[in-house]
Amino acid sequence: MQCRPATPAPGAWQAQLAGAIRDPHELCRRLGLAPEWVPGAEAGHALFEVRVPEAYLARIRPGDPSDPLLRQVLPLGEEAEAAPGYVADPLEEADHSPRRGLIHKYAGRVLLIASPACAVNCRYCFRRHFPYEENAPSRAQWEETLSYLRDDASIHEAILSGGDPLAASDRQLSWLVERLEAIPHLRRLRIHTRLPVVIPDRIDDALLDWLGGTRLQKVMVLHINHAREIDEAVVEACRRLQAAGVTLLNQSVLLQGVNDDVASLAALSERLFEAGILPYYLHVLDPVAGAAHFDATDEAARALVAELRRHLPGFLMPTLVREVPGEASKTPL
Ligand code: SF4
Repeated sequence: MQCRPATPAPGAWQAQLAGAIRDPHELCRRLGLAPEWVPGAEAGHALFEVRVPEAYLARIRPGDPSDPLLRQVLPLGEEAEAAPGYVADPLEEADHSPRRGLIHKYAGRVLLIASPACAVNCRYCFRRHFPYEENAPSRAQWEETLSYLRDDASIHEAILSGGDPLAASDRQLSWLVERLEAIPHLRRLRIHTRLPVVIPDRIDDALLDWLGGTRLQKVMVLHINHAREIDEAVVEACRRLQAAGVTLLNQSVLLQGVNDDVASLAALSERLFEAGILPYYLHVLDPVAGAAHFDATDEAARALVAELRRHLPGFLMPTLVREVPGEASKTPL
């Protein structure tokens, strides 16, 4: 009999999700930041609310405003500054949504918005202005969305996205996956999520039951930008996923002040591999309004990756890409 690694208490993740910090004052206070950070945090929060779960907060160095984990979640006054070329929908996803909650941009695969919520609000998120309320299907609307997949035999992969798809309940997700696996031409289920990183207890028995039980091949693409995001609880969550037959990949975003140096990127790849995750993509920033202060130039990105190649074996090298609206795939830089 195959043993499953020990799992968290049932429902523990929901309490952590509900208890995430949503007040910029509290975030600054808990991390011992000087009062001068509060007005900027309030201004950024007014544009895109702050959200940081305790399990992630515990990994941030107190009293250090330049901590690379903090920079990803602390709202700043700069978010209110307009920058040329930075827009609300940088990937023009609204043009590729033939059904509610469905985005079909690339051949052979579709993206399903399985949850409008996230466990953490990343300040550079390209969907920070996404109209989730217009894309949250009811069960009846899901049936219509699913019929789009049933009617197109060229679709072999369903990608659960969001928000964060794992913010949805296991009841909702198992309902959806049951319907997906009944579509004969679907081969793969891909899940794009940051939840196992920010609340590792999300990977509990209830999730492993529906995920481990599906006939579809399972790929989880995590979103980790810095080696220090991977603590022992994240490593354990990854072990549980691997034991359930899930292939783990990672995509990162190149972010100024977070990971835009060779040492950070090399440490990230090494740590990912220790946790059983393969580096997949390193994205340059999507030009979303409010995130211009995170951008690194293309020249800097190319130089970093060229230098990184001198430090890492090929299988630990993520592919440097940009998402260009209208292109049939990601564009390597
Ligand atoms: S977890 Fe992903 S979708 Fe959610 S805010 Fe962060 S980057 Fe955006």
